[in-house]
Amino acid sequence: MQTKRSYIDGVHPEAELLKEGAEWLRAGELVAFPTETVYGLGANALDASACAKIFAAKGRPQDNPLIVHVCNRVMANLLVEGWTPAAELCVQHFWPGPLTLVMPKTANVLDIVTAGLPNVAIRMPSHPVALRLIEETGLPIAAPSANLSGKPSPTSGSHVWRDMKSKIPLILDAGACLVGLESTVLDLSGGIPTILRPGGISKEQLEAVLGEIQVDELLENQVPKAPGMKYRHYAPQGEMILMVGSSERVVQRMGQEIYKGHARLKKVGVLCTLESAPFLHNRLPDLLFVLGSKNRPEEVASNLFEGLRLCDERGMDIILAEGVEEGGLGTAIMNRLQKAAGRKIQYI
Ligand code: AMP
Ligand code: MG
Repeated sequence: MQTKRSYIDGVHPEAELLKEGAEWLRAGELVAFPTETVYGLGANALDASACAKIFAAKGRPQDNPLIVHVCNRVMANLLVEGWTPAAELCVQHFWPGPLTLVMPKTANVLDIVTAGLPNVAIRMPSHPVALRLIEETGLPIAAPSANLSGKPSPTSGSHVWRDMKSKIPLILDAGACLVGLESTVLDLSGGIPTILRPGGISKEQLEAVLGEIQVDELLENQVPKAPGMKYRHYAPQGEMILMVGSSERVVQRMGQEIYKGHARLKKVGVLCTLESAPFLHNRLPDLLFVLGSKNRPEEVASNLFEGLRLCDERGMDIILAEGVEEGGLGTAIMNRLQKAAGRKIQYI
């Protein structure tokens, strides 16, 4: 299939491009589009064969359900029942935005969308292209991240192009995504609201509005409530080591690891903070990518997936990544870094 990549204005999206996207979606085809978190791979959520194409294009396991994107409350009401006071508060404070709500589904929601679960995950994105595209289509849009399964989520049109070209008819490219990490997934289906996946809205932000919040800690061999959390997402091809500790100790340890890697004729890439970068240049890594300042986690979040992808593209055998402080957006950043590193975390 030939893929068209159309550049679209991220603030005032061109009407004819939105129309073209909506036509493909209504015809049961896939369209990649920007959201404020990452790029989404969209399909008509009410069309089972369109949704099946998402799983095929991504190589996504069938048991990993899809988030449904809506542009207004009426559309949400078609898909979800049992609006609790907590759900209303979430909508009021965080929609449109990077918060996905897991709630009991109506009969309108297809099994392929929820992987047979009784609840559906639903979100209203704030990116003008995403919102206007859903509006123009007039349908709820199922959309996971527009990457091949197992690769870092795409945070630019170029990432989507590399993963999806020749698989889908249209990519709407509005450049880089603002947040750069996926949405927070919050389970509101019963009891205390529970974070299933940390993301663009922090636990602290949710607590300020909802009071007590739980975090679903994934234990070994346990079936996760968000099925996607069991997959080793965001995994670069190289062996990744996450280092957590003071800047000085991280710099020193990275220097040693670069030396050791080079002795084994390995290419060693470094993902570090702005503060550590000046002390790592002269250790001569094969790639040095600055994620952003320690004091600006939103900068680190928006660059993280670009850095991981770059390490793969440049063939790094070993990737040394500097951790950030937990709390706020830092918790979501560390969640993604830990997943990318598998179990290889050094506390120093
Ligand atoms: P992605 O769309 O690739 O960013 O992944 C969506 C995440 O939301 C995955 O971790 C899914 O397992 C999770 N998710 C989607 N639908 C549901 C649902 N109905 N119940 C629980 N988790 C869900
Ligand atoms: Mg994904």
